[in-house]
Amino acid sequence: MEIVWFKRDLRIIDHAPLVEAAECGAVCPLYIFEPDIWSQPDASRRHYEFLLESLTELDAALSALGQGLIIRVGDAVEVLDTLKAETGFTRLWSHQETGNGWTYTRDLAVKEWARANGVSWKERKQHGVMRGTHSRDQWASNWHREMYQAQISPPVQLKPLYLRSQNLPTAADLGLGPDDCPGRQKGGRREAMSLLGGFLTKRGQTYRRDMSSPLTGEWTCSRLSPHFSFGTLSIREALQASEARRRAPMEKGWAGSLRAFESRLRWHCHFIQKLEDEPEIEFRNMHAAYDGLREDSFDAARFTAWSEGRTGFPFIDACMRSVTATGWLNFRMRAMLMSFASYHLWLHWRETSLHLARLFTDYEPGIHYAQAQMQSGTTGINTMRIYNPLKQSQDQDPDGVFLRKWVPEIAHLPTHLIHTPWATPDKGKYPDPIIDEHRARRIAANRLYSLRKTATHKRIAGEVVRKHASRASPPRRFRGSGKGTASAQIELDL
Ligand SMILES: Cc1cc2nc3c(=O)[nH]c(=O)nc-3n(C[C@H](O)[C@H](O)[C@H](O)COP(=O)(O)OP(=O)(O)OC[C@H]3O[C@@H](n4cnc5c(N)ncnc54)[C@H](O)[C@@H]3O)c2cc1C
Repeated sequence: MEIVWFKRDLRIIDHAPLVEAAECGAVCPLYIFEPDIWSQPDASRRHYEFLLESLTELDAALSALGQGLIIRVGDAVEVLDTLKAETGFTRLWSHQETGNGWTYTRDLAVKEWARANGVSWKERKQHGVMRGTHSRDQWASNWHREMYQAQISPPVQLKPLYLRSQNLPTAADLGLGPDDCPGRQKGGRREAMSLLGGFLTKRGQTYRRDMSSPLTGEWTCSRLSPHFSFGTLSIREALQASEARRRAPMEKGWAGSLRAFESRLRWHCHFIQKLEDEPEIEFRNMHAAYDGLREDSFDAARFTAWSEGRTGFPFIDACMRSVTATGWLNFRMRAMLMSFASYHLWLHWRETSLHLARLFTDYEPGIHYAQAQMQSGTTGINTMRIYNPLKQSQDQDPDGVFLRKWVPEIAHLPTHLIHTPWATPDKGKYPDPIIDEHRARRIAANRLYSLRKTATHKRIAGEVVRKHASRASPPRRFRGSGKGTASAQIELDL
């Protein structure tokens, strides 16, 4: 019997382990539900609900082939050990997983168990992330090569097995508290296909122009991210569908938008590659010169105000309240929330990124921690961008529509005052700003600026670039003479 371990790849199409296993014999499609993962600080109920919906559809798809999903609950090594005693299997198939520190440690334990028990664990590439020795120089061409492979059709049928499946624990069993997220996206392959179709034929036309505002981004962005994170759709499927659409005759706007979308599909893997190559960046700064900078200045009251959407900066609060209620936010607003927490409030990115991880239905550790660090200035190789919440508010929501929706306390204010409620006594119970924005921004910029000028900083930055930077568009300061003047670049978003 061949065991196919489904992890974050909850689909039957473009699933190499399933097909290869089926070519070798009877397949046991296994999902190991691991209760311990749900007590980790990055887990939340919205992830659990999305997972359940996706598992239900996966089970239906597998059942249609002849053998539904076998669910086992418990520690992965113990589950596999029991299954081995029941069936005597010698081959385990799965996709490679670049998850969080917990899944990394679990995979090491499974690897050791497999070795000790005569089981051959065959892991296949998920998306375009490379495992083991590889050079960043060839990364982009390898990625394209992977993405242009033909999609893999599912097996025609699976032989029915007579194996016991277990019930999934409830959210209460797992200690997952209530999570008021009425706007959460639904899981499952059907929803993924409907989003992809809607984006490629209708919503995506103005993607490039409209993605940055939370008002238009909600509609024009693909909204596929949780489906990529849980694997109900593969990156290859989305990329090939987008390219096919781009080759067909199209109205104005489409070609540029689809190209921008395809680049982001590459970024998806580019970011995950960083965590694959250096799992420690989930916990510590990518660039060591930043160690000790914020660690001792965590202000709990500031964190609470930020995480509850009560900072007194309406656009920050609107974004936080929106993502709390929907599980999604567009890229620019995620970056602004992170930047505000790290620069203006001077909070260490670890605690704030965990809060956002629990809120994002699409939580993907590889993208998440690399982005959190990038927006906090701790990669040391990216141009620092300190977002000005007032400017973003005026640029992205000039009429205050988003603000009125998410900050009803100030909905009565006229448009010329809604971005600056502190300027009027008529702001009711809405809080005063918790910091002086201009001053906090300047202090943060100065702190980072002096650090970036040092020789140690430049030396370590060179190592970070070698390890993690995209060669498709290497930062200008690392091209040519290597004088490195731009390592002191700070964008103030004035
Ligand atoms: C602090 C911070 C944390 C983030 N955490 C996550 C996360 O946990 N999970 C996640 O999927 N994305 C994360 N992102 C990246 C990005 O914001 C989301 O991928 C995007 O908003 C998802 O919406 P969409 O599917 O409609 O994206 P689209 O704009 O339609 O893009 C299509 C796909 O491309 C990929 N993508 C888009 N932008 C980026 C980017 N900047 N970097 C890497 N991949 C990208 C995603 O897979 C996305 O689904 C984070 C960004 C920031 C600033």
